[in-house]
Amino acid sequence: MKLIRQLLFFIFLSNVALAQDIDFARQVINDLCAPEMYGRGYVNNGDEAAAHYLRNQLEKMGVSAFDFNYYQDFKMNVNTFPEAMEVEVDGKQLHPGIDFIVSPDAPSVNGEYDIIYLNKSVIGNPNKMDEFEKADKKGKAILLDSTGFNKVQKEYYQQVEKNPFEAVVIIKLLHEKLTWGVSQNVSPFTTLEILKGIFPSNAKKIKLNITNKLLPKYGSQNILGFVEGKTKPDSSIVFSAHYDHLGMMGKETFFPGANDNASGTAMILNLAQYYSKPENKPDYTMVFIFFGAEEAGLVGSKFYTENPVFPLEEIKFLINIDLAGTGEEGITVVNGSVFEKEFNKLKELNDEKNYLMQVKVRGKAANSDHYYFSEKGVPAFFIYTMGGIKAYHDVYDKPETLPLTEFKDLFRLLTDFVKTF
Ligand SMILES: [Zn+2]
Repeated sequence: MKLIRQLLFFIFLSNVALAQDIDFARQVINDLCAPEMYGRGYVNNGDEAAAHYLRNQLEKMGVSAFDFNYYQDFKMNVNTFPEAMEVEVDGKQLHPGIDFIVSPDAPSVNGEYDIIYLNKSVIGNPNKMDEFEKADKKGKAILLDSTGFNKVQKEYYQQVEKNPFEAVVIIKLLHEKLTWGVSQNVSPFTTLEILKGIFPSNAKKIKLNITNKLLPKYGSQNILGFVEGKTKPDSSIVFSAHYDHLGMMGKETFFPGANDNASGTAMILNLAQYYSKPENKPDYTMVFIFFGAEEAGLVGSKFYTENPVFPLEEIKFLINIDLAGTGEEGITVVNGSVFEKEFNKLKELNDEKNYLMQVKVRGKAANSDHYYFSEKGVPAFFIYTMGGIKAYHDVYDKPETLPLTEFKDLFRLLTDFVKTF
């Protein structure tokens, strides 16, 4: 009886600890998604605010810095939208992020433009098509709506999309969600994606006031630290996550990036907190890296692999976490089929402990910060959660709606997995 009571007490204690961890994770996600972080992009140095926050967290936990105070600086060009973001269609004002997005590589544009349509009723009618082809499209707006297009018509659409007619703006009507991004360069013309449902039918004119600002050689950073291993200090397990997101689209609209990737960032901080406690001191040296500028094209992690702060050969295994906020449908392991032995271990652990409903295998993919590491021969997994909310690269990826369904179980699985090395 006494034993059972002790056991129950122990379970109670470990649940309290995990409850605290999830509270901490929530707090980190809220902090990283706050308006003062400007979507962790490059308008108002949002990336820098987030980096500073992470650096302070590591210091507070007593995680050691490499000899440059947790920072690794790098430079890149990046296109930004710090000011005007106005779109009006026949007098109807559209809402940035909700009704429309501008292409991340858009230049500034200011003026009112006639709209020339290319849709099903035009492309399916030889006379109208003739009219479209003859129309002077230079300096105008071309509206593309591919609803009902066949394969050949879609190929034509793809030509027009590249703007051979030198229109000022290409408008694409979308049925589904809007998905934004980050660009390192500027296109000669603007592309707008607008939700079809809100676009006034047969609108004649579009009025635009959009300001871009290309930031040449913008200084961003990776943030990193380590906890020295007990028995194998010269060999390390690396946990990584990108902390940057898409930033601002105009003065008022920011992309919070709760799932992508405040959630993964919170997971790595939780792991850093765990391993920095004396009772959890690991055998291997644990390295925690928060990469910058992932959304701009894996810039921070590529830079790191070209300028590693300790030899890449000393990395026993790297686990990159991106999108850790759901899990209703389990997790996917990129490189799972490349590192089969490790993948099987992970899957066995999961089955044994009943953590996640599925650990799905996937092959090689250049879709997050593990990529340049595995290209250089570092064994690495990229793990993301599946199911739950559909918000992704849009204004709806918010902390309020992020479920963190399997956050604790993923944490347990990761710490169990580390013990197998
Ligand atoms: Zn991401």
